[in-house]
Amino acid sequence: MPAPRPLARPADARALVLDMDGVLWRGAAPLPGLGSLFRAVRARGLPVVLATNNASLPPEAFVERLAGFGVAVAPAEILTSAQATALHLAHDTPPGTPVVTIGEEGVCRALTDVGLTLTDDPAGARVVVCGMDRGLTWQKLATATLAIRAGARFLGTNPDLTFPTERGLVHGNGAVLAALRAATGVAPEIVGKPEPLMYRLAAERLGVAPEHTLAVGDRLDTDILGAHRAGMPSVLVLSGVSRAEEVAAAPAPPTFVLPDVGALADALLSPA
Ligand SMILES: [Mg+2]
Repeated sequence: MPAPRPLARPADARALVLDMDGVLWRGAAPLPGLGSLFRAVRARGLPVVLATNNASLPPEAFVERLAGFGVAVAPAEILTSAQATALHLAHDTPPGTPVVTIGEEGVCRALTDVGLTLTDDPAGARVVVCGMDRGLTWQKLATATLAIRAGARFLGTNPDLTFPTERGLVHGNGAVLAALRAATGVAPEIVGKPEPLMYRLAAERLGVAPEHTLAVGDRLDTDILGAHRAGMPSVLVLSGVSRAEEVAAAPAPPTFVLPDVGALADALLSPA
């Protein structure tokens, strides 16, 4: 796999794709430099997309969260893995195509927003989309299994095997995808990180080629690997999951490593 052509410095980027959890906030608290980053981005006039594997929430939920931290972003600047899945389907699926869904509001609304039709009828479904669903039931799994076994196209919003809760790590969407795969023998098309599709759709929305777009994330195994696969240079910030000492053994090294988005703000504003 060819390495993304690296930018000489972050300030050379023409657009940004930002991960959120571990980059902009952690838990309920904003991370250092959040305000500075958005002041720098707006001062530079850089187009930005905030891209997340979280498929359960609609974009407005992230807009509200950032507003609570004093940062204004538009809904069009958010791209969830559910929206990316819907956009990907809309490229080659006729409007009105019936889709069986496992998912919450984020998944269902993203699909109807691009003109697809939700159905509970496995015989009529052409597509199955599976995202995190905290109301998952035996019936929903059965309907999805029957539809896939009858030939429906099978997509997963994101492959995360675990999901952090106050009780500890529980099964993530990837674990449910694994159950459906076991029952059908069909591997899902995965849209979210570390697959490159969501990054490619973000670059499409930004109107900037991937090699001029800087992906910013806190996880080597998802954010940075996905950026590499999409041909995007990347920044690993050390405010979330991955540590500096893990970079050497990473499957794809980040182009830059910075402590947090405050340091990225400084880098974006630094003169040549
Ligand atoms: Mg993150």
